Amino acid sequence: MTIGFIGLGHMGGPMAANLVKAGYVVKGFDLSLSLLEEANSKGVTACASLAEAVAGVDTVITMLPAGKHVLAVWQELVATVPTGTLLIDCSTIDIDSARKAHEMAAEKGCVSLDAPVSGGTGGAAAGTLTFMIGGKQDVFSKSQPIFEAMGKRIIHCGGPAAGQAAKICNNMILGISMIAVGEAFVLGEKLGLSHQALFDVASVSSGQCWSLTTYCPVPGPVPTSPANNDYRPGFAGALMLKDLKLSQEAAQSAGAATPLGAKAAELYALFNELGNADRDFSGIIEMLRKQSGGTA
Ligand code: NAD
Repeated sequence: MTIGFIGLGHMGGPMAANLVKAGYVVKGFDLSLSLLEEANSKGVTACASLAEAVAGVDTVITMLPAGKHVLAVWQELVATVPTGTLLIDCSTIDIDSARKAHEMAAEKGCVSLDAPVSGGTGGAAAGTLTFMIGGKQDVFSKSQPIFEAMGKRIIHCGGPAAGQAAKICNNMILGISMIAVGEAFVLGEKLGLSHQALFDVASVSSGQCWSLTTYCPVPGPVPTSPANNDYRPGFAGALMLKDLKLSQEAAQSAGAATPLGAKAAELYALFNELGNADRDFSGIIEMLRKQSGGTA
């Protein structure tokens, strides 16, 4: 099977390379020439245009920055590919754009899936991403081997845009819980509690969560967490802010009350403004510590 892959950045590049490893013929396109060359060195056929990349393919995958890029590219796609082509968007985008992309595909007689991922650049390179997928069951079932070439957990979440909904809701939990864990460590410090003692208690008590046990924001208790590596990402503050903003747009348009999601978006906006966009999102504990009169 031949796949057209549009967007060969931090995530798309290694994902396309894993498709090649799994035996697919992959034709790639990106606006950046250097990324095209890099993908080419991993077995992706570098194409000079979107039209060239999607000529004669069965499936097209897009991995782009945001909703406006996906809609612009899908507009071009539906004008170019034949009826029946499978279009998959793996970017993290707003729900309205995801729904619109599915509608555009359906109008052309194409089949489509939204399939955002979690697992970051490490997961993309290792082929261990989690895919959250929205779209029709039969389309999902047929396309499962494609996702298996790039990921480990593949979850069908429901109809069109359900994958994006799951991604946005999950990351809203993550943003809120990381702030909660950071606040608890800062309060513990003020109360004379050691990081290890708080970790030992909360990690086996009702405060237990991924932000604590896998991604602990203080160095020591979880040696692999970015806190042990000067908060190098990992998952950058800019990406957390992007996802929290998406959750708030969705909450507003759907009429859901998400007061903690709103506060988390506000705190991560400040975190980014303070120059932390490229640092890991767990570094927000340093901002909280400073706000408490301590040093980072
Ligand atoms: P990136 O900026 O590295 O890659 C996006 C690529 O799209 C760029 O190389 C850009 O040149 C290309 N592009 C933009 N418009 C194009 C067009 N019209 N035609 C062809 N190429 C075009 O971003 P990324 O980190 O790879 O993230 C991609 C998506 O995945 C985003 O939606 C992001 O939120 C999501 N995501 C990223 C991570 C992560 O850790 N980086 C984790 C999960 C999800």
